[in-house]
Amino acid sequence: MWFDHFRATREQLAAQDLLRQLRVAHGGTAPHQPVATAGGAVRELLMFCSNDYLGLAAHPALADALVDGARRWGGGSGASPLVSGHSQAHEAVAQWLARAYAPHLPQPRALGFCTGYMANLGVVTALGDADVELFCDALNHASLIDGARLARARVTVYPHGDVAALAQRLQASTAPRKLIVTDGVFSMDGDVAPLPGLLALADAFDALLLVDDAHGLGVLGQRGLGCIEHFGLNSRRLVLVGTLGKSAGLAGAFVVAHQAVTDHLLQKSRNYIFSTASPPAIEHALLTALELLAGPEGQRRRHDLQARCEQLRAGLTRLLQQHPELPWRLTGSSTPIQPLVVGANAEAMRLAARLEQAGIRVPGIRPPTVPAGTARLRITLCASHTEADVERLLRVLRDSAAEAQQTETEGAGA
Ligand SMILES: *Cc1c(COP(=O)(O)O)cnc(C)c1O
Repeated sequence: MWFDHFRATREQLAAQDLLRQLRVAHGGTAPHQPVATAGGAVRELLMFCSNDYLGLAAHPALADALVDGARRWGGGSGASPLVSGHSQAHEAVAQWLARAYAPHLPQPRALGFCTGYMANLGVVTALGDADVELFCDALNHASLIDGARLARARVTVYPHGDVAALAQRLQASTAPRKLIVTDGVFSMDGDVAPLPGLLALADAFDALLLVDDAHGLGVLGQRGLGCIEHFGLNSRRLVLVGTLGKSAGLAGAFVVAHQAVTDHLLQKSRNYIFSTASPPAIEHALLTALELLAGPEGQRRRHDLQARCEQLRAGLTRLLQQHPELPWRLTGSSTPIQPLVVGANAEAMRLAARLEQAGIRVPGIRPPTVPAGTARLRITLCASHTEADVERLLRVLRDSAAEAQQTETEGAGA
């Protein structure tokens, strides 16, 4: 029975062009990376798929800090935070974060989690009790969706980024407590949530606003503190989740919020209470990562990254203007996530394969990660990409567009 089920599932996915494949990366996260091909050979690909936006994962200071941390603290933490896993290294990171976010949150405190997925599950389930209604953006990340599914709260989904539609739903709600839940920068579209509008609604309806800033941290704001810094927000209604495996170049996640919120999480968040704390060596190195991210080097890297974003965006815009016949479109993103939406699953995978032939890796993204009919190439940029790297990507995309046009024209003539 089981193995028939596995085979049928696989065949069904394959028929819809939805099979996923695990590949081995041989290098670090640098843009030029040796990878294994399907045939087993190793060749270098130019990568536009990492979320290591500042290129910090390959920073020698992080490797040194990890070694130093391991010498000092050894291996694992040995226990959950409330038992004995919360080391001085964990506390130092929590204090760094609380200080950094002090301009944006009154009485801030931070709690660490091993991953962003865990943090989102832990926060949404702990806050989303039976007296709560959750108001979730339609394009929220899978981990927020899973948190909402697991929570006892009632769940209402509002159209993506639509403040007016959310206001109506809040108005109609009779729940004693309300929690608005949104990505800060949307992971598959790259657009930024309308946080000032959402926060005004949180004020008006006595709600909390949970922002998952996995893709804003390190990228937005002068110090790279993310979309809260970008918009200059300050409110005790804000609950911020940040992940440390993306632009911080390492691993882990945190929640930072008013201390009344974090106290509540400490009592109620099962993911925090019943899971082993991260290795202290990681926390030790995280301090270095955060200093780099928020300091002058981070600023320099954000500046370079912004220049690459503008170059790619201009190039893609021009390309689409030259090919109005193609169903391709952009999302209007100004962040390092620059998706090229192509529509059909097979077309996204064909383009990804075409790029790979040309030595460039851009992942094709299909449902359920994105809505049906909006399969796309999810291009992400890093500070370590050069102008020539971006031009090389644009050149192959221009060729692919010309080929796609030719196919369409032939199809129309047949
Ligand atoms: C990557 C991601 C997460 C999960 O973070 P991990 O640390 O990778 O588990 C959560 N939310 C969003 C929006 C993400 O993109």
